[in-house]
Amino acid sequence: MRVARVEPLTTARALRGPFDYLLPEGFEGVTAGAVLEVPFGRRRVVGVVVEVADSSDFPEERLLEPIRQLGQGTTPELVEIALEVADQYCSTPARALGLVLPPGTGVGGRRVKERTERTCRLTPEGSRALEDGARLGAKQRVALEILGGGAMSTARLAGEAGVSSSTVKRLADRGLVEIGERQVRREPEHREVGSESDGAPPLTEAQAAALERIERALGNRGDGGPETFLLAGVTGSGKTEVYLGAVEHVLSQGRSAIVLVPEIGLTPQAVSRFRARLGDTVAVLHSGLTAGQRHDEWERLRRGEATVCVGPRSAVFAPLEDIGLIVVDEEHDPSYKQESDPRYDARRVAEMRARRNGAVLVLGTATPRPETWLSAERLELPDRVDGLGMPPVEVVDMRDAPPGTGALHPSTIDALATVRERGEKAIVMINRRGFSPWLTCRTCGHHWGCPNCDVSLIVHRDPDVLVCHHCAHREPVPPSCPECSGTTLARSGAGTERIEVELRDLMAPMEVFRLDADTGASGAHGEILERFDRAPSAILVGTQMVAKGHDFPEVTLSVVLDADATLRFPDFRAEERTFSLVTQLAGRSGRGPAGGRVIVQTLAPGAPAIARASSHDSPGFLEGELERRKTLDYPPYSDLIRLVFACEDETRVSALAERAAREIGDRLPPGSALLGPAPMFRARGRHRMRILVKTEDRSDAVTAVREVVEELGSDGALRGVVLSVDVDPQ
Ligand code: ADP
Ligand code: ZN
Repeated sequence: MRVARVEPLTTARALRGPFDYLLPEGFEGVTAGAVLEVPFGRRRVVGVVVEVADSSDFPEERLLEPIRQLGQGTTPELVEIALEVADQYCSTPARALGLVLPPGTGVGGRRVKERTERTCRLTPEGSRALEDGARLGAKQRVALEILGGGAMSTARLAGEAGVSSSTVKRLADRGLVEIGERQVRREPEHREVGSESDGAPPLTEAQAAALERIERALGNRGDGGPETFLLAGVTGSGKTEVYLGAVEHVLSQGRSAIVLVPEIGLTPQAVSRFRARLGDTVAVLHSGLTAGQRHDEWERLRRGEATVCVGPRSAVFAPLEDIGLIVVDEEHDPSYKQESDPRYDARRVAEMRARRNGAVLVLGTATPRPETWLSAERLELPDRVDGLGMPPVEVVDMRDAPPGTGALHPSTIDALATVRERGEKAIVMINRRGFSPWLTCRTCGHHWGCPNCDVSLIVHRDPDVLVCHHCAHREPVPPSCPECSGTTLARSGAGTERIEVELRDLMAPMEVFRLDADTGASGAHGEILERFDRAPSAILVGTQMVAKGHDFPEVTLSVVLDADATLRFPDFRAEERTFSLVTQLAGRSGRGPAGGRVIVQTLAPGAPAIARASSHDSPGFLEGELERRKTLDYPPYSDLIRLVFACEDETRVSALAERAAREIGDRLPPGSALLGPAPMFRARGRHRMRILVKTEDRSDAVTAVREVVEELGSDGALRGVVLSVDVDPQ
């Protein structure tokens, strides 16, 4: 007997699969990864086969049979990956399986159909009719003549011949034309950015050495364990050429490759370089695709028509087989962590897939994470390709700014004016959106906060509104203070919108572009970047988005405002984030013959993250940071699991968090510590409590947490409570 173990795709946490079904005749093709519709109680549910076995714990006569198979499903390897993700990130099999199924298959997914079109071609009778001068209308003759050149879609024929579809149908009725159907591929739009030549340039010595080392590892095909490399290359050192060379090598071995990039909307260059070099063997998977495009690209990968997948985080689940190489570009980027259940880290999933496939993993960045620095074999690209040095960085201490200085120091304004004079470009980063972060009444000091969250409302312009950045709350900017009726309201502090307005004013007639979460979806971001690229002389203002891997040779000045803003986050990664933001932004400057400079405005010039970034000293920063992490016992010297309980009822949430902390604490393996519960600020009208587990035994600690969460779930304690469990919180 053949038994399929099926995991139903439901959102319920309590449902514990898999469940056995007997595979009758007609289901021979079913393997792990197949999607089946099965009877379940009185319902029918869709489920994924996680295993096919030849026996069951249940007697054969009690086993039900599946109703039917739905589509091709996913690969057995991806089923294993999904189950491992569910396990490691305290999620459910159903949710994790949703990540690896064809687009539209998961819970609530809408099935996507293939797109087909009608085609027509000339029959032998049709050719004869043309030659014999049979009785044909003028338009009919034109249509047949066009078809004489080859088959085409009916729509195109109708257009070219100027005939209606009923004319075509009449021709078909007379047997002169044959109408068929073919699948049409919905191709993603490809933005061609910059002038990408399609040939490989001769590699620099450092590039060649790095590539050679990777190729040597690829030659081992995973014998002796998977190999992980850190390609530590300063910004502009030509990391992408190394990735391209490695991908070409893997393809020549007949294997496939995955290339992860941070966010496609912000880094369209990456995709266009891969497509320019490797053509249609590249499939892209990202959220900007239509459902149809996504479906077709996924199928191309599944069928092996495309053997390279380029995309953000979710592309790590590309349905490729025999993967030889996984590249994670800009490996420091926080977008590799998914912030909703399953809260997986694509870098860890990349490791899992590399292990199962015997693939080589290449993590590339100018600002490695401490964990990567510590564990991976380093391949260094110490210089920029063009031989230009790194741009000098000037740290401007805002504590010494002359009175009356706003967000921009006078010396920053001077530097920007020089850029304008020379007709060059500048990038200005301030990691805070909106116009200003505080609205207060000058008379009584009243301060506008969110009614649902314990945070300030942010002033936005265009339109004039107060917005909470944690919940959807919005309210009009008031004309006067509700407490004292005072009409002098102060908007203090600056965000991207204010800097944009000030720069328009100060730097006219230079064009100023703004890039942040408020300037549209990812498609719009690509467009803003293109306009900035095309403009003769301009300023790009924005949040951390402006620091991503853009390559604009005319940029001669990068400015970081309030560089220590990210340092003030109560998070052990604040140092690492700040270092990488400042370094990455500095890397945007001076990528052309005109050279470049960098200005870092800060209140904390002595902070290691800022001082080391200013001297382009990654190793120095990392050594110090690792030391600090070791003392505090933070990752990579431990693993973290964070639980956040949120509920409108303050006493309930405290009691629940206390109970969870006690029960988890009782079960944690040795070498673990539990911090909290500690209150967090109220958000979306809910009081929140946080528990943090620090452990040296990740897998047992995750198991302990999962058991407690499941018990709380099954005895009803979690009703009305939002609980998030985050392994490796960022
Ligand atoms: P990184 O990703 O390290 O910041 P890129 O891969 O974007 O750097 O390379 C920076 C620029 O240098 C790109 O325009 C790229 O086309 C060019 N480049 C890379 N390698 C070479 C090379 N060996 N010779 C000439 N130009 C190169
Ligand atoms: Zn709010």
